[in-house]
Amino acid sequence: MTDSYRHKGLRKRLVDDLRRRGIRDEAVLTAMNAVPRHFFLDKAFEEHAYDDKPFPIGHEQTISQPYTVAYMTALLDVKKGDRILEIGTGSGYQAAILAAMGARVFTVERQEALYLQARDLLKAMGITSVRCFFRDGAKGLAEYAPYQGIIVTAGAPVVPEPLKEQLAVGGILVIPVGESVQYMYKIVRLSATEYQEEILDAFMFVPFLEGVQRK
Ligand code: SAH
Repeated sequence: MTDSYRHKGLRKRLVDDLRRRGIRDEAVLTAMNAVPRHFFLDKAFEEHAYDDKPFPIGHEQTISQPYTVAYMTALLDVKKGDRILEIGTGSGYQAAILAAMGARVFTVERQEALYLQARDLLKAMGITSVRCFFRDGAKGLAEYAPYQGIIVTAGAPVVPEPLKEQLAVGGILVIPVGESVQYMYKIVRLSATEYQEEILDAFMFVPFLEGVQRK
């Protein structure tokens, strides 16, 4: 795993593009400039790691497009020391971005092979503030709740109720909701019983699936 000057240069250019596309959150842009996305991709796609595109990571899953990662992370409004739950570890890239912003990250993946690969990669990169779990994210991760932020990186037909319940008061849930196209929902927990919901732009995600999948 080497992060060359060339990679750094391409990454800087990607971050400049994200800024031009409207991502204004400097903490997010700094994290995206710091994390080598090419570590999270198959060698075959390494040349394109800094294109603003999703890529296959095996098991019919994809690493999200950098713009989508930046958009969702900005909505989460991450502060240092926040506990953030991610559903859909995939490659581990989004988790690494959250860690780079100083969050304590709990990330859940239902596909065992991806869980193992991401866990080992994050460890090899020396990232210690991400904890990986192999289970169905529809139930969230109750034992470490509440979370200041929850991010779901697969398209869910409905918002899983446990995720809302595991938000801290003042916490933010960012989740793409819909069947073939998803709308980004930003849900803020106002009190023990009240939530405020905002429906934002349209995206296309891989589907949120039920149960776990062993290798
Ligand atoms: N955040 C990832 C993007 C992964 S794509 C990254 O940065 O690379 C979405 C991931 O969600 C896939 O790996 C898929 O297996 C996972 N997923 C789908 N449904 C899930 C569920 N119910 N629980 C946990 N993970 C799920």
